[in-house]
Amino acid sequence: MKFTRRSFLKLTGASVATTALIEFGYNMAAVAAEAEELRTVGTNTAYTICPYCSCGCGAIIYSDEHGHPIAIDGDPDHPTNLGSLCSKGASMFQVAADSAGKRNTKVLYRGPGGCEWEERSWDDAITDIARKIKDTRDKYFMEKDADGNIVNRVEAIASLGGAAVNNEECYLWVKAMRTLGLVYIDHQARI
Ligand code: SF4
Repeated sequence: MKFTRRSFLKLTGASVATTALIEFGYNMAAVAAEAEELRTVGTNTAYTICPYCSCGCGAIIYSDEHGHPIAIDGDPDHPTNLGSLCSKGASMFQVAADSAGKRNTKVLYRGPGGCEWEERSWDDAITDIARKIKDTRDKYFMEKDADGNIVNRVEAIASLGGAAVNNEECYLWVKAMRTLGLVYIDHQARI
């Protein structure tokens, strides 16, 4: 049997509690018969990262057969938080549960000066965004500064990352932005 931190804690916690209660004369068989099953037993689990701050704590989301979240726990195997979540992270459950089935999954576009949203395909939206980035970059690319120093930079575009973006994704994102010549690169967790 492979012991993880979680199985070790489960085992030692259960053994210590059981031993202590038996020593006090409790009938553990009767207690076990009456015990309710945890509501997370048999649920689907998904591993995620808390989106709220730069700590990037790991969490486990438990969801029912319809994919609706029913509980969230800190991930005991995650190196950042080792199973704990602060009160903000613990409230992730409300966000996930409240937004279940309500999140917009389609691209909605409202043109300059427009009042109505129009549905667009992801292909259209991504092509449009890529076009705007390329045009802006080409228009404002600065090879030299006012003193003649080679700078190869673009000051007309800024990039702001989100805390739900993990380390590896941030690494790739910053590389891509630097390739374009961006110098204004920051992250929501620093704000
Ligand atoms: S659980 Fe708390 S400390 Fe951890 S990432 Fe979320 S907000 Fe930050």
